[in-house]
Amino acid sequence: MKKSKKLLNLILISLLAVGAVVLVVWLASREGGYSEPRGTFHSPTLYAMDTTLDFTLQGRDGKLAKQDVDAAVALIHRIEAETSRFKSGSDVEKVNAQAGVAPVKVNDSTFDIIKTSLDYSKQSGGAFDITVAPLVKLWGFYDQKYRVPSPEEVAAARSLVDYRKVLLDENNKTVMLADKGMELDLGGVAKGYAVGEAYSLMKSRGVQHALINFGGAIGALGKRVDGSDWIIGIKDPRGQGGELLGELKVSDGFVSTSGDYERFFIKNGKRYFHIFDPATGYNPANAMSTTVVGPSGMLVDVLSKIIVMGPLRGIEFMKTHPEYQGLFIDGSGNITYTPQMKSKYVIEIKDKVGI
Ligand code: ADP
Ligand code: MG
Repeated sequence: MKKSKKLLNLILISLLAVGAVVLVVWLASREGGYSEPRGTFHSPTLYAMDTTLDFTLQGRDGKLAKQDVDAAVALIHRIEAETSRFKSGSDVEKVNAQAGVAPVKVNDSTFDIIKTSLDYSKQSGGAFDITVAPLVKLWGFYDQKYRVPSPEEVAAARSLVDYRKVLLDENNKTVMLADKGMELDLGGVAKGYAVGEAYSLMKSRGVQHALINFGGAIGALGKRVDGSDWIIGIKDPRGQGGELLGELKVSDGFVSTSGDYERFFIKNGKRYFHIFDPATGYNPANAMSTTVVGPSGMLVDVLSKIIVMGPLRGIEFMKTHPEYQGLFIDGSGNITYTPQMKSKYVIEIKDKVGI
């Protein structure tokens, strides 16, 4: 980590134990001894979609920067109001309430998120599946009443998970879940989508240098004002107190991490987390974390759920999307990469988790 002293904005993807969210820690304040470029604007930490939201803008007048952030936050809250399964009156809440009953007209953006999600479900053979809700619920991740269900309960919930039973009507922009008991959960895609929209909005307002961190879904707009890349720290999934596994350099792009250390519980020495393999109803067997970098906020979020496939199949799948690169950490802490991940994005990284 020798370089980190020089870095102005090193962000650290961190966690808060059980029920955790991904945090941003500005090492600037930890390192001390240097100053940021004049005109660096940090938003206060905000909250949306059950996680933290931070903005850093450079090369922008403070008053304008504040207006940019306010506009982006309003946009993100609008997206949350449409896509949250918990907000009454949201598109997702309405579609879920009408499962097995009737199609529901949704906003164009919700329709697009669902349509893209189904496309990636198909491509990934169902590893990514926005109908995963019955499993997430069964294991207690919605109400934080964590439990290990019986195999019968898992089988029953799993039988309700099937992206092929999400029926879209393109002309009328309606969505229907074919069977009663089915439910959508856009938790694996909405934050990435929202970061992408916030990024585009900022760009259209004339922002040239910005970093957006939305609970680990990150948008790096342009470069830093001094012309260097933004530096993104990847948290060590088994590190103590926010230790880093490594650092990535990114500009004009997005990063997303999915792992077993953000929202999890431990029962009888075994770790259970909030990402499920729809094929089994259980957590992916051999996966600790997946980080994906690429040109779309929504798709890095979606592709980081390829953690479900495990490293071997996951990397093969990623090769069919060469504009996206990723790193996979298997259940034993071994790190593997897609072909260009290291050369394009990795500054430095440990060889293995736990070392
Ligand atoms: P976070 O929500 O903390 O950002 P992730 O980006 O890793 O974490 O997304 C995890 C969420 O994705 C889960 O809480 C759940 O809503 C959803 N999810 C879980 N398993 C799948 C899956 N196989 N396909 C799509 N979405 C999933
Ligand atoms: Mg996420």
